Amino acid sequence: MKALVLEDIAKLIYKDVPDPVMKPGEVLLKIKACGICSSDIPRIFTTGTYHFPTIPGHEFSGEIVDCAPDVDRSLIGKRAAVFPLLPCRECESCKEEEYARCSNYNYFGSRCDGAFSEYISVPVWNLVLCSDKIPYMTAAMCEPASVAKHCADAGKIKSGDTVTVIGTGTIGLIAALWAKAKGASKVISVGVIDEYLDFAESLGIDCIVNSSKDNAFEDHLKLTDGSGADVVLECVGRQDAINNAILYAKKGGRVVFTGNPYGDITFKKDVYWKILRNELTVTGTWNSSYKSTVNNWKETIAALESGSLDTSKLITQKFRLEDFEEALATVRDPKTFSVKVMFEM
Ligand SMILES: [Zn+2]
Ligand SMILES: [Zn+2]
Repeated sequence: MKALVLEDIAKLIYKDVPDPVMKPGEVLLKIKACGICSSDIPRIFTTGTYHFPTIPGHEFSGEIVDCAPDVDRSLIGKRAAVFPLLPCRECESCKEEEYARCSNYNYFGSRCDGAFSEYISVPVWNLVLCSDKIPYMTAAMCEPASVAKHCADAGKIKSGDTVTVIGTGTIGLIAALWAKAKGASKVISVGVIDEYLDFAESLGIDCIVNSSKDNAFEDHLKLTDGSGADVVLECVGRQDAINNAILYAKKGGRVVFTGNPYGDITFKKDVYWKILRNELTVTGTWNSSYKSTVNNWKETIAALESGSLDTSKLITQKFRLEDFEEALATVRDPKTFSVKVMFEM
């Protein structure tokens, strides 16, 4: 089969590789769509992955085309998204079904071969089946949408809350959509580029604030009747954004950190004082929940099927696998407007 193979840092090659071999309990998935995650960019160009060669790609969906002899053959022909984390199932976290906290996990597209390829072999446990109503590219959005759901859930958003979401990337925008779906009376998108903020508004987000402008803090205060947001979801991971997340919360408010840090993070003294004096609840989230009781993936698929969540407009560009150079350049070019760039196979 054809695949994009990362052979070294900044050395991604489109080439023939052996077809995947199914182990017991696995199905063969013909990959139909795979998103490029912002985390794939450093993985490919600067930090590399855990070992070379690796096929990147962890936001994918496809059609089940074969299965191991011990697997129910009626799965063949069905479409599915895939939870890309392969937990050890032995550590304390796994016993609690907190798989994102697993201390010894494997991961499609970073620790083992992922989905920038034609086929992948996947354990049945990782399959999130979806109906034919959901296009493959929408199903591939299940990964960022589940991460955003986990973030929004941690905000414990109540109906009538004012929710501020910092970040206009895929996770930030979907977190804002989840906040609306959860009944927030006002959702405010905060970003630094007007084009992305305008896009957030076009998705139905109530208000926008450009935090690079001088009066951003006052603008945000006005939008929250002078008191700040009940809940702030931070989906950027940069110094300014993280400090703003604390400043934008109201007294007794809740702040959720989800953005992966770009470097060391420090709080300004007056910002840190706010956590104490305003008695903020500050929490972090990682990945998504895949428990038998709370499964963000099944919740996301159900919301996409019912239409209560619509991520279709977020797919701004699509490319064939062999046009990967153009696809990656699109993600990296700050002058090109892109939210989710997707490979369509
Ligand atoms: Zn991702
Ligand atoms: Zn584990």
